[in-house]
Amino acid sequence: MTGAEENGPARPILITGASVAGNALAWWLGRRGFNVTVVERHSQFRDGGQNVDVRGAGRKVVALMGLEQAVATQGTGETGVRFVDENDKPIAQFNLDELGADGPTAELEILRGDLARLFYDACTGDVRFRFDDYIKDAADTGCSVSVGFKSGARKGYDLVVVAEGVGSSTRELVFPGENEARWLDVTMGYFTIPGHE
Ligand SMILES: Cc1cc2nc3c(=O)[nH]c(=O)nc-3n(C[C@H](O)[C@H](O)[C@H](O)COP(=O)(O)OP(=O)(O)OC[C@H]3O[C@@H](n4cnc5c(N)ncnc54)[C@H](O)[C@@H]3O)c2cc1C
Repeated sequence: MTGAEENGPARPILITGASVAGNALAWWLGRRGFNVTVVERHSQFRDGGQNVDVRGAGRKVVALMGLEQAVATQGTGETGVRFVDENDKPIAQFNLDELGADGPTAELEILRGDLARLFYDACTGDVRFRFDDYIKDAADTGCSVSVGFKSGARKGYDLVVVAEGVGSSTRELVFPGENEARWLDVTMGYFTIPGHE
């Protein structure tokens, strides 16, 4: 018997954001028999993103989901990080072989979009994804959360989980002013290049 069945008919749960956190939670709740809707602002599944190290608690969760091997197979195969000067001469190097899985490169490295898609594809049970929609208003009625969507739909949920990453508009809606970015005086740029040495 699943957690939801023990407590009567499955109660509706809303997750916003179909990425790593949202899809992983949908996977777990779906297996437990909950009635889960994942709402994603983008019009379709969002691929792309950079490396995510799967280690510590993250690795344990992936193992419990039975997806550790899939993460390894679809991983980047990164063997380390090398900083080079303008002549391509290495000035610092961190090798997975020498530092082990706790160095800058983890044993399991996978692109954000590939990890999120693994969880997305593996979801089973009463889990549905709705793209091109987002929360416009949400009010706690005492026994449920009444949610209005951009699409015009309105529905009550027992639980709403906001998994929208940084810059979440729903977090701003529910906890105004707590979502402000804090400038760390560091600038970084990330971009994608072909995967060879
Ligand atoms: C170079 C690089 C390296 C990184 N390395 C690591 C690492 O090693 N380990 C690690 O844990 N993290 C790492 N990160 C960060 C990692 O990408 C994030 O931790 C991870 O993607 C967060 O997942 P998330 O599901 O919380 O949010 P996100 O991946 O940000 O996804 C949020 C989702 O919510 C959707 N969304 C946003 N607003 C709304 C809305 N209002 N309504 C509905 N949907 C909405 C977005 O479209 C998106 O699909 C790295 C990031 C970069 C750029």
